[in-house]
Amino acid sequence: MSDVPAFVVFTDLDGTLLDHFDYNFEAAKPTLLQLQHASIPVIPNTSKTFAELKVITEQIGLNTPFIVENGAAVYIPRDYFPQVPQGCVQIDEFWCKSFTIARDEILDFLNQLPSSLCDAFIGFSQMSSDQIALETGLSKQDALLASKKQFSEPIKWLGNERQKQQLAIYLSDRGANMLEGGRFFHISGQTNKGHAMQWLTNEFRLQFGVEHSIKGGLMTIALGDSYNDIDMLEVADVAVQIRSHKHAYPRLKRTESLIQTSQMGPEGWAEGINQIIKEFHK
Ligand SMILES: [Mg+2]
Repeated sequence: MSDVPAFVVFTDLDGTLLDHFDYNFEAAKPTLLQLQHASIPVIPNTSKTFAELKVITEQIGLNTPFIVENGAAVYIPRDYFPQVPQGCVQIDEFWCKSFTIARDEILDFLNQLPSSLCDAFIGFSQMSSDQIALETGLSKQDALLASKKQFSEPIKWLGNERQKQQLAIYLSDRGANMLEGGRFFHISGQTNKGHAMQWLTNEFRLQFGVEHSIKGGLMTIALGDSYNDIDMLEVADVAVQIRSHKHAYPRLKRTESLIQTSQMGPEGWAEGINQIIKEFHK
């Protein structure tokens, strides 16, 4: 890419760009095309894995960087930026910048849990790919990709509120934490969708030599539906909360430059982006 984009769009996938139930994004396609024509990058920022993202970005037709596992790492296609991005290692055809501890360390913590917490959840590492397929509603092949976590362990919660608090304390004592996503809780080291987004935004600015101003381009838009999106929604220049069928809009500190969509999933995604485009052209 060569043009300095006016905006960079960071988007959650499940329940945001993709439908919560069947993962389709039909309703967002015309808007995605519009952004592509305007050279506005769409950067997935999701709890999904590198293995999943490689497939999904191709299905969506994105050739952009993406952020995996709730901000654990940023992957950038090797030919995307003019310069090699700072502090990255090469993985396949990508540059990778990671921000947190690996999954093996998390599984070690979980193997040493007090017995009072052992029946409170079941983790992906304890499930067969058939079980993961059933729980996620994915095909067996997609479930296999979803299970290839590098930085986190998704768990299905079975316990009570007290156990949830106990587990949160146990994890936080070990520098790890638990985030509630659309379907699962995700246990990881310190990850933050907002922090990874800011790192990548800064990289865009360095690569294109632009300042953070509307005239210089590179304003950030973030879209998300759930609690694990709060960090990126708080730090974006414009935040779009997609309506969820599961819960009310998660509470944000910000009130400025905040859009809450009336529609859900990809319909809401298109609604939010189109509202911003309309405002921008006023
Ligand atoms: Mg979501």
